[in-house]
Amino acid sequence: PDPQLQSLRERLPQWMDASRGKAAEGRVASYIPELAKAPADALGVCVLAADGSSVFAGDCGLPFTMQSISKVFTLLLALKDKGETGVFARVGMEPTGDDFNSMLKLELVEPGKPFNPLINAGAIAVTSLIDGATPADKFSRVLAFFREVADDPTLDYNEAVYHSESATAHRNRSLAYFLKDNGVLSENDEVEDVLEVYFKHCAVETTCRNLARMALVLAFDGTDPISGRELIPRRYVQIAKTFMVTCGMYNASGEFAIRAGLPAKSGVSGGILTLVPGRFGIGVVGPSLNGKGNSIAGVHLLETMSSHFDWSIF
Ligand code: GLU
Repeated sequence: PDPQLQSLRERLPQWMDASRGKAAEGRVASYIPELAKAPADALGVCVLAADGSSVFAGDCGLPFTMQSISKVFTLLLALKDKGETGVFARVGMEPTGDDFNSMLKLELVEPGKPFNPLINAGAIAVTSLIDGATPADKFSRVLAFFREVADDPTLDYNEAVYHSESATAHRNRSLAYFLKDNGVLSENDEVEDVLEVYFKHCAVETTCRNLARMALVLAFDGTDPISGRELIPRRYVQIAKTFMVTCGMYNASGEFAIRAGLPAKSGVSGGILTLVPGRFGIGVVGPSLNGKGNSIAGVHLLETMSSHFDWSIF
């Protein structure tokens, strides 16, 4: 087993306590009403190594929805379906410095083209690129891909969260209509169909352990080191990890790159998927968010772990 795992096992209880203390300074997301029910003071972490050995602590079995973390994997699937040229015809490669659901810069580059695939506008455009004749076909391909990467055939979406988001998503709806008006969503893409797939993939229910398993595949460039299955071309994983570094932690991506130095993606449900290249897949959950929308305890814990073990990729 990886020697760092033993050291981590010993230190984690103390580090978890210190990070959990941060939760009170943050707030659980409530703009999707169903998410407001999450336990604010929960904190869980799972670190998984290539030989399948792991360290986990706290609420690592707590179910939560992937939300924006799913965007990394829909990007990977769209790259598999349409290639780099197809994907980058519809989204850019740059961070925005604006909120994840912002409309501010949609007119600035080529008209209507979202800056990157991790902001909502970009992720909605990416979702439209996934192969499938109907929204049901598209989502079943998304789910099959997520299940394959997570090595978990039971992975599914949470109906209540899906309906809660769909019923209140006025802003995402307006973003999607704007994309349609600008031809970023094509003639054949019905806005409501694309949004159905988008809300469902955001509502896929996971745990820290599951996130760590998915992250491990990214840590090993698309090949699952546990089973040896080659799941994603290395080039596409490289693209996804680059976006995770530049835009994965909303407008705190620069700060996280300096403090933790790891490719990561967070979601409004308080999950964070991150990895140490060639070494570990990591999943964290802590539903209380800081002002930038990232798990307040989760970020603190990852920064503590990364600086102690000198995990920064830079
Ligand atoms: N489904 C959420 C939305 O579109 C995801 C946001 C997030 O996790 O950043 O608003």
